[in-house]
Amino acid sequence: MATDGQVIKCKAAVAWEPRKALVIEEVEVAPPKAHEVRIKTVATGLCHTDWEYLYETEKGMKSRPFPLVLGHEAAGIVESVGPDVTTFSPGDKVIPLFLPYCGECERCQSPKTNHCRKNWENAQVGVLADGTSRISCKGRQVYQFLGVSSFSQYTVVPDISLAKIRADAPLDKVCLLGCGVSTGYGAAVNAAKVEKDSSCAVFGLGAVGLAAIMGCKVAMAKSIIGIDINPEKFEKAKEFGATECINPRDSSKPIQEVVVEKTGGGVDYALECVGSPVIMSAALESTTDAWGTCVIAGWTETETMSVMVNKLLMGRTLKGTYFGGWKSVQDVPKLVDDYMNQKLKLDEFITHTRQLDQINEAFELLKSGKSIRTVISLHDSQEEDKPEVATE
Ligand code: NAD
Ligand code: ZN
Ligand code: ZN
Repeated sequence: MATDGQVIKCKAAVAWEPRKALVIEEVEVAPPKAHEVRIKTVATGLCHTDWEYLYETEKGMKSRPFPLVLGHEAAGIVESVGPDVTTFSPGDKVIPLFLPYCGECERCQSPKTNHCRKNWENAQVGVLADGTSRISCKGRQVYQFLGVSSFSQYTVVPDISLAKIRADAPLDKVCLLGCGVSTGYGAAVNAAKVEKDSSCAVFGLGAVGLAAIMGCKVAMAKSIIGIDINPEKFEKAKEFGATECINPRDSSKPIQEVVVEKTGGGVDYALECVGSPVIMSAALESTTDAWGTCVIAGWTETETMSVMVNKLLMGRTLKGTYFGGWKSVQDVPKLVDDYMNQKLKLDEFITHTRQLDQINEAFELLKSGKSIRTVISLHDSQEEDKPEVATE
């Protein structure tokens, strides 16, 4: 490609500082270094986690260095590859991943976990393996979010954090497998290991919660209770497989008591997809003694949840899941196949579509509870398909 080895100038939504709207800027994206791949980001979802890092930083989230390009739920096309990249070529369709899979470490080789820690510390502070980011704006380094930064028309990612997917996959749909849908679905099928004829409760009916419901349904759960303080989410939850929905605000009793009463002792599986320590405790207390399992998918980094020890002594299990337990690079292409074979829903999560310059509106839609997922197109269809190269 003509851009190979050159700096690309393109548009990105830059977060200059916490709690301020994103600004569309022209950024420069450097060529990929060893074991890195530069991709043209075609479509990206907005996940609650992007919102939290911008607006809740220093509340439930650790602070990140700014300026920052957020976005981690995307799909794109390989533009060029750096030295030593053997598994990707320009033109490949790909999904960048916030969780690496190096395939070689003890964790990658263990069936017990998907927590590969290669490049981990660097990704947490917004840089790639060499300690720098590939994005800059107005002469300043712009940090990359979780090693991805999909709110940019081009970005550079490590080759161990990139899944090659089939050529016929629609990028504006499969981008959702980069985070929310894979997380919720995996929370049910991998972490909880929901069983046939079991009872389930899913707390929070955003994309992660709906995907958890989808997982419970695929696992043939007998009853699936959807719980949300926003009753506008109920219709969709039922379409995904919820057998009933409850608004905690409709009762003066704590939600866990409502669930325990309704189910005659508690559910077999509870999945927390909100990100609130109070709801995490409620989810655990909604499960039955003896074998109830509570899985935390909601994200918070600095808060503590309270656990009544007695609940665990009586045989309950409490666990958390990161990216739904999927071994990212290896499993995401299989999830794409499942979508293409109509085993997995994706289109139904997409309530809105917007262009990159409408990204702040997309955040508003997510926060106000009006959207499940807004998919952002990063390149308008009229645009010439040749990226601009920086001349100096
Ligand atoms: P979302 O904002 O679309 O959905 C959250 C839902 O929770 C909303 O419908 C909201 O009304 C509901 N809610 C809020 N307070 C509630 C309460 N008190 N009781 C019941 N429901 C309540 O968010 P999302 O994108 O689906 O993400 C959900 C959570 O999952 C977030 O915390 C996000 O950071 C986290 N997440 C974790 C991972 C992971 O790897 N573990 C990956 C992606 C997202
Ligand atoms: Zn996410
Ligand atoms: Zn590894």
